[in-house]
Amino acid sequence: MQTVDYLIVGQGIAGSVLAWTLRQRGYSVRVIDDLRPSSSRVAAGICNPVTGRKLSKTWLADDLFPYLHQFYPALEQELQASFFYPIPVYRPYQSIEEQNFFIAQTANPVLEGYIRLAENNEAYAGLIHNALGGLETLQAAWVDLPTLLSAIRKILVQEDSLVETEFRWEEVVPGLDFVTWRTYEARQIISCEGAYGRFNPYFSWLPWAVVKGEILTLQLPEESVPGIVNQSVWIQPQGAGVYRAGATYEWNDLTWEPSEKGRTYLTEKLNKLLQVSYQIQQQVAGIRPATQGRRPFIGLHPVYRSIGIFNGLGSKGTSMAPFLAKQFADFLVHTKELDPEANIQRFHSLYFSKINE
Ligand SMILES: Cc1cc2nc3c(=O)[nH]c(=O)nc-3n(C[C@H](O)[C@H](O)[C@H](O)COP(=O)(O)OP(=O)(O)OC[C@H]3O[C@@H](n4cnc5c(N)ncnc54)[C@H](O)[C@@H]3O)c2cc1C
Repeated sequence: MQTVDYLIVGQGIAGSVLAWTLRQRGYSVRVIDDLRPSSSRVAAGICNPVTGRKLSKTWLADDLFPYLHQFYPALEQELQASFFYPIPVYRPYQSIEEQNFFIAQTANPVLEGYIRLAENNEAYAGLIHNALGGLETLQAAWVDLPTLLSAIRKILVQEDSLVETEFRWEEVVPGLDFVTWRTYEARQIISCEGAYGRFNPYFSWLPWAVVKGEILTLQLPEESVPGIVNQSVWIQPQGAGVYRAGATYEWNDLTWEPSEKGRTYLTEKLNKLLQVSYQIQQQVAGIRPATQGRRPFIGLHPVYRSIGIFNGLGSKGTSMAPFLAKQFADFLVHTKELDPEANIQRFHSLYFSKINE
């Protein structure tokens, strides 16, 4: 038997950031991942503190955003890699009504430090229709997730902390103070399986609401713009005239393959937003590990306390993972409180009613 502190199933952004956080505190981890299609490998990695037509502030934004702005740059240094790009989100007004509403919101104290009137509207004018001007969301950024995941994977391989294999929960034997899996014994095993988590026999009772998303990669004549543009679709400059555009939300077709429907939806939106012609270079799809109630699933199994979950990050994994991994590590190691809105304890009654059926 090999003894480690934590076994982590899944090396998407959730498993990677949790493993890194525990490793930084001196705990030994083994991350198990078989490189199947994942949400993190296709996501745009945008961290946006204010979203939607009502300019809603992201849940826990005042904690998440200061934390991620120090977490990712520090991780870049440690991994000797570049993947964190602070950049505003530009919101061109769609109508006079929206302009009035957005301008009024710049005086809303809840959004102070998160939004301001854009002063560089002309920088976008060659690319999109923005005759009415626009608003800028501050503290936003995007994370190049494939680069981050590959850099962490490399370290895990070097340290013999990655097990590349298909994981099956039938091979897990939960004990009171420890858990075993194949030749490993650990104090806890944590499920970070993304949307596959809904098939996990220990957590299938949670109210999952996974949602497929698709993204296009475009080649545009315009070199670059200073921000991510967001007007019912977003376009994200990658440099040299390459942009990513997305995303769709699809609850019925839960396959990992791109679809004609997704492509049509995005191109119709882009044709309205863009002033210029474009070529589609690539189309990708993934399944977001979203939940009913839009709050994460974090905590320990109601009965098998050596089995935990860090999942349900929905469409905001890049923003949520760093701060929530810190909170979960504090919970695992020091039994500090988890945010009650994230703690799966809120659904324990669902588990007990299911086993009593
Ligand atoms: C089109 C699209 C756009 C998105 N854009 C954004 C965005 O701009 N910003 C943002 O924050 N979020 C975005 N998201 C959401 C984001 O992708 C998720 O919040 C995040 O990636 C979830 O990470 P995860 O680690 O929980 O799951 P995943 O990334 O899916 O990782 C799960 C991992 O578990 C492994 N795994 C699962 N089961 C097993 C098993 N049995 N054996 C071995 N390995 C296993 C998989 O190989 C995978 O590596 C987007 C998602 C999509 C689909």
